[in-house]
Amino acid sequence: MNALAATNRNFRQAARILGLDSKIEKSLLIPFREIKVECTIPKDDGTLVSYVGFRVQHDNARGPMKGGIRYHPEVDPDEVNALAQLMTWKTAVADIPYGGAKGGIGCTPKDLTTSELERLTRVFTQKIHDLIGVNTDVPAPDMGTNAQTMAWILDEYSKFHGHSPAVVTGKPIDLGGSLGREAATGRGVVYATEALLAEHGKSMKDLTFAIQGFGNVGSWAARLIHERGGKVVAVSDITGAVRNPNGIDIPALLKHKEVTGKLADFSGADMMNSDEVLTHECDVLIPCALGGVLNRENAGDVRAKFIIEAANHPTDPEADEILSKKGVIILPDIYANAGGVTVSYFEWVQNIQGFMWDEEKVNQELHRYMTKAFHNIKSLCQTHHCNLRMGAFTLGVNRVARAALLRGWEA
Ligand code: GLU
Repeated sequence: MNALAATNRNFRQAARILGLDSKIEKSLLIPFREIKVECTIPKDDGTLVSYVGFRVQHDNARGPMKGGIRYHPEVDPDEVNALAQLMTWKTAVADIPYGGAKGGIGCTPKDLTTSELERLTRVFTQKIHDLIGVNTDVPAPDMGTNAQTMAWILDEYSKFHGHSPAVVTGKPIDLGGSLGREAATGRGVVYATEALLAEHGKSMKDLTFAIQGFGNVGSWAARLIHERGGKVVAVSDITGAVRNPNGIDIPALLKHKEVTGKLADFSGADMMNSDEVLTHECDVLIPCALGGVLNRENAGDVRAKFIIEAANHPTDPEADEILSKKGVIILPDIYANAGGVTVSYFEWVQNIQGFMWDEEKVNQELHRYMTKAFHNIKSLCQTHHCNLRMGAFTLGVNRVARAALLRGWEA
């Protein structure tokens, strides 16, 4: 099942549980606006090359639409649509005053030079600049993009609209970025995991972890789990995978990756097949990369007792069913990875206030938001006798539906 069909299915199930009016259900499913642009740039050798860029703005009932822009070869309209919709529910679950959006360009960033990436980002911004804005749609980094990408968007946008730091989040600190934003998604994953484990009378230091994906989110999650005494026994990224049943020295692995660019040849662990990380012996599995990695082919072999969805939609509905029958507890993406967009909200607030918070305040507030959202989800699980995914979906969908109804239907 593709990402959009799976997301729609979860939404419909939540709408049914909530007894949502069919008019509001229909209107919440249809995206507000779908933008597709052709971005043609000269390569460094002078030849012209074209990339397709998307921005899907899903819903703005609760505030400006918000979500990342990804640069990845698998970016396609359905995927961006699904991710935009997930952002709407995610911002509502986190209870930050935003709607949802997502963008992407179908390209392979590692095959482009820095100046080609800059040109591509500027052309994309030129084509969408009048459809984004501080109070309409606020992009942020996602897979394949980073603070530098946001700096280029900010610069290009400001040529049309004047200096507007709050038009993007996840910026470099020197341009109004927030302290703690870089680590925020991984840190939010850790706070979410702690809230779930506490509920089950468990603590990180007694458990083993397998982490699939060692980019921004996975590496921060691994580092913070290691700091808390959790034993990370398996890690993978696109270059390979490593395991050590006694626990991997994460700071040493980070250093090794920084120096060599890969996980292979790390002296503190054995190499393993990348796919095996998902079914590796561990207590907690944290997928931190692409969507759809847990499916009917491998779900039956998962050995973890808890899955924390740091990636967006890593578990397809068939896997969801198989895993729930096995009694695996899944902390869903629209809550587990909401730390990134929550600190994006803090960044936007700081930009609007013109006042910078220290990192301690950012992390404290992030902890408060993540913990509160967990308890809100749990209470809906009790009310509706449902799992955590439906607890999170009903929480998000209900908040958005209430805002949409209050705004009214008159054209
Ligand atoms: N790309 C991140 C996400 O999927 C962050 C979005 C944001 O900060 O707006 O949640």
